[in-house]
Amino acid sequence: MRLGCHIQISGGLRKAVERAVERGCETMQVFVSNPRGWKQSSILPADIDAFRDGCREAGIEPVFVHTIYLINLAAPEGEVREKSIDALVMNMEAAARLGSSAVVTHLGSHGGEGEEVGVRRVVEAVGEALRRGPGGIPLLLETTAGSGNSVGHLFEQLGEIIRAFPGEERLGVCLDTCHVFAAGYEVRTREGLEETLRELDREVGLERLRLVHANDSKGDLGSRVDRHEHIGEGRIGMEAFSIMARHPVLRELPWILETPEMTVERDRENLRRLREAARRRTRRG
Ligand SMILES: [Zn+2]
Ligand SMILES: [Zn+2]
Repeated sequence: MRLGCHIQISGGLRKAVERAVERGCETMQVFVSNPRGWKQSSILPADIDAFRDGCREAGIEPVFVHTIYLINLAAPEGEVREKSIDALVMNMEAAARLGSSAVVTHLGSHGGEGEEVGVRRVVEAVGEALRRGPGGIPLLLETTAGSGNSVGHLFEQLGEIIRAFPGEERLGVCLDTCHVFAAGYEVRTREGLEETLRELDREVGLERLRLVHANDSKGDLGSRVDRHEHIGEGRIGMEAFSIMARHPVLRELPWILETPEMTVERDRENLRRLREAARRRTRRG
């Protein structure tokens, strides 16, 4: 298991590598522009070189690019949809230049028009982004908590989207532990986790699972509340992270923390807890 954090890029990409090193990351995730705005940042070639060299020297690999929060691939025809697809393509291009392994994106909201409509629109938007985007960059669809009208909280929705592109190797899935739990998938017991992963396998295929977002959850099972908590301090708890971190499928994947605060101390402590979880034998063996 390779462990890392979502790293802030304020001060530039060079600074982001320093932050990752300071935290002891083996893998990392970044935004390439302000996640709360549409403005696309132009990344200077010198910064790209510094970032790639820094990651290589520090052995940080793989690197993920997370899209901005505003992206709504389930939006109806119009400005938001166009901007969302443009932003997604821009993120895929930036990822290619940064030597990133994949782009991770949320799917967006159907705005009350229903999940079927939402999924159909996501398929169209993803299709356009795949046509326009660079060839070698995988696109990971992230599981969502199902708050509001968000699309992607059911594995069958992710499966439907991926199956719409037969033979498209670039499409994969990012499993967020907080989101799936809040969406109603049990992960706290061995049996629960097995059942959850069986369903993911049935609907999507476990070979499509490329990344874990490791977050504890402030909301309870099925609450559909998307609020991340420090590892071991939420409703998921340390015991569950121990079960997940030792699972033969999950432990082979990169794990990225998106826990609150993101200070060096907090991030290091959360990473330490995950490392301990991966080592620790659970109470029931
Ligand atoms: Zn996430
Ligand atoms: Zn979240």
